[in-house]
Amino acid sequence: MNYQKLCEIYEDLESNPSRLKKTEILSDFLKTIKHEKGKEIIYLLQGRVWPDYIEKEFGISQQLSIKALAKTSGLTSADIIKKFRKIGDLGKVAQEIIKTKKQGTLFSHKLTTQKVLTNLQKLPELEGKGTVDRKISLISELLTSASPIEAKYIIRTLLNDLRIGVASGTLRDAIVWATFGKDDKQAFEDVQQAYDKEADFAQVFEKAVKGKSSLSKTQLQPGRPIKVMLALKADDIADGFKRVGKPAAFEFKYDGFRMLINKDSDGTIKIFTRRLDEVTKQFPEVKQYISKYVKAKTFIMDTEAVGYDPKTKAYQPFQHISQRIRRKYDIEKMQKQLPIEVNAFDLLYLNGKSLIGEPFEKRTKLLRKIIKSQKYKFVPSKQIITSSESEVEKFNKQALGQGEEGLMIKNLKSPYKPGSRVGHMLKLKTEAQELDVVIVGAEYGKGKRAGWLSSFDIAIKSGSEFLGIGKVGTGIKEKQEQGTSFAELTKLLKPIITETKGRHVKVKPKIVITVTYQDMQKSPTYKSGFALRFPRLTAMRPDKGPGQTSSLEDVKRDFKRLHK
Ligand code: AMP
Repeated sequence: MNYQKLCEIYEDLESNPSRLKKTEILSDFLKTIKHEKGKEIIYLLQGRVWPDYIEKEFGISQQLSIKALAKTSGLTSADIIKKFRKIGDLGKVAQEIIKTKKQGTLFSHKLTTQKVLTNLQKLPELEGKGTVDRKISLISELLTSASPIEAKYIIRTLLNDLRIGVASGTLRDAIVWATFGKDDKQAFEDVQQAYDKEADFAQVFEKAVKGKSSLSKTQLQPGRPIKVMLALKADDIADGFKRVGKPAAFEFKYDGFRMLINKDSDGTIKIFTRRLDEVTKQFPEVKQYISKYVKAKTFIMDTEAVGYDPKTKAYQPFQHISQRIRRKYDIEKMQKQLPIEVNAFDLLYLNGKSLIGEPFEKRTKLLRKIIKSQKYKFVPSKQIITSSESEVEKFNKQALGQGEEGLMIKNLKSPYKPGSRVGHMLKLKTEAQELDVVIVGAEYGKGKRAGWLSSFDIAIKSGSEFLGIGKVGTGIKEKQEQGTSFAELTKLLKPIITETKGRHVKVKPKIVITVTYQDMQKSPTYKSGFALRFPRLTAMRPDKGPGQTSSLEDVKRDFKRLHK
């Protein structure tokens, strides 16, 4: 198909803000391509060139688009930037430039949707030396044979900003209208379900054209990422019960990152993040764990990977292991330094059968059946099934005590709804408590942190006294670029050291910081009478002096609220 024809549809969609009208335009268009091959045009309607389950990016900035436009038109980048400042939409700038350039010249353009797809699909594959130039060439090749409105939409697509207002719900409706008609209520559900399983509108459309039986054959496929189910927030335990019913399942809410683990029929393991990025190579240990601790031929499992300290075995917050997700080298070293425990909490597919339509009750039972639990490696999520609020409260304390974020609440009767936030699963996070405190002492670190002050004694001011309330060592970064660093704090504190004993120093109470914490205990160790549990530095407060810390009253009030 000529790309021009598609661009006319884009124009039509852009100028019609009403959702119903958009659905009609789309559905009329889909009818015209119903029996054609190459349903990938649908991706272009979504402003993409791949199905939704492929989470690739073009990696094209405005700057690079400007360079490609310059190369095509012979204008300088400065000229183009000037126009951009005036118009504010690089797509429209491209349209104007191409219009001026081509005025008077009769051009026979032959830009097809296939050519646009092909060139754009190549962009993320380019790597290494000369990548930028090759990207510019691919774009410029398209722009050279583009009409003005084609140029507009090529640039907008590249910048992920198509501005035609087509959300996935509209596209789903248009597919139904074009295949089964507006009045077939059940078809909306059928098309949505097929999409939930394969996250690919071109495939769904292809099947819808063939009919309902083809649509209903859509299966989850281990090895292909699907969008995970998301959680809503519960105000408190009672609210949780009200929304998911009694009894309900409660699980630790682990502070790690989501891993969707797939095993397909030839035994291949693939791991995806919640953004659908594949991270199998980064986590070779998971493959081993699967072969040792999971008994199933094929499956799709929803899990949370949590980091822990290899020496103390203490669980660590997400930031601690986040670097493993993108790391492409020294994988073995990382694996040792930043080990993870996989906490499995849902099972979507087992031995050739999809489970997403089954109630959670059944899925969680099957999940627990196929796992041989191995602490610090592969375990099912900690869970209780109860109707009792006090039992949940106890369980929540246990979770917080282990450094977890709180609890997840799950409806026992609900199916798994990929990609949606439907309230079958709620999160009960204890709101982070926050205090402003002043640093009164510190300790030099060891190993990697030698030479830096790495653990900080914190206090609040009461009258003329500074009352200790705990120590903080998390939330501080190794590298300056990532936030407040150990080096930065060391530099601030060294000049105000008043006493040194071994690795420990006392400092003048001058540097105020904000910390969040998860819980508080009564403690004879500290002068305030309280100790913060899991405090974490969240901000430097150069705007505050040592007299402006939180007060002892604040602390007492927080303690009461946490322990009522
Ligand atoms: P949030 O990111 O705050 O919306 O909370 C939901 C996230 O909690 C999920 O996406 C998971 O990554 C994570 N999570 C941790 N533990 C569990 C669990 N037991 N069940 C479900 N999700 C969990």
